[in-house]
Amino acid sequence: MLKCENLRFSYGKIQALNGISFEVKQGEIMSIIGANGAGKSTLMRCIAGMLKPQSGKIIYDGKPLPHSGHEVVGRGIALVPEGRWIFPNLTVEENLLMGGYLVKDRKIGIKRAYEMFRLLGERKKQRAGTLSGGEQQMLAIARGLMSNPKVLLMDEPSLGLAPLIVNDVINTIDEINKQGVTVLLVEQNARKALKIAHHACVIEQGKIVKYDTGDEIARDKSVISAYLGRNAKKTNNNIKELNN
Ligand code: ATP
Repeated sequence: MLKCENLRFSYGKIQALNGISFEVKQGEIMSIIGANGAGKSTLMRCIAGMLKPQSGKIIYDGKPLPHSGHEVVGRGIALVPEGRWIFPNLTVEENLLMGGYLVKDRKIGIKRAYEMFRLLGERKKQRAGTLSGGEQQMLAIARGLMSNPKVLLMDEPSLGLAPLIVNDVINTIDEINKQGVTVLLVEQNARKALKIAHHACVIEQGKIVKYDTGDEIARDKSVISAYLGRNAKKTNNNIKELNN
């Protein structure tokens, strides 16, 4: 359904993507795990049309994806960016309306958002900047869904959230997927992401080094020691140092 072929992207001399190839199948959750600086956000931004890869192809539904954010949204792919990027001075509802700027009838999306996230309906007139971190993340997800996407790209949705809220976010992603949305999930909380992922890949220094089912990746010894075990943090930092 969504295929990346040999993607390369560099910021000046920093080679962030070094020939990335993988495929996301329709209806699945595909999780991407990797250390800080491995290239995960760059990959998401390339797919979302915010960055133009220097080489390689991104194919969606058999056709190349354009390097233009709004055209990618028009093709049915939405990004929930790292750091949420909600508009703090706009109300909850105004933020949702922004997410549906390409949609003719935004009332349907708003209704669906309030059905899925009851709290957002109760707070629709509240300024988004005054919501808690977890509530802001739900708003960012709801805003991503406003364009009624077939594919949702989620970049670190649980970043900075308390463990209980992380569970809510992960369950929400699972629920969205069960409603038929394909999800590409970059998540620092690898253990939780792999629990809901159908497939997963590991990215290191701009390259995919492993691809398998979520269960197999979660059982892989090197993945456990680098990303899931007790020393994972230490290894992550080592990888970060190697990258620098
Ligand atoms: P994290 O988990 O820390 O967000 P990541 O896997 O998402 O990391 P990227 O943000 O894609 O990694 O970064 C990949 C590499 O590109 C890193 O070495 C990073 O320092 C570099 N990089 C990212 N954005 C820029 C930028 N705007 N200008 C220069 N270098 C950048």
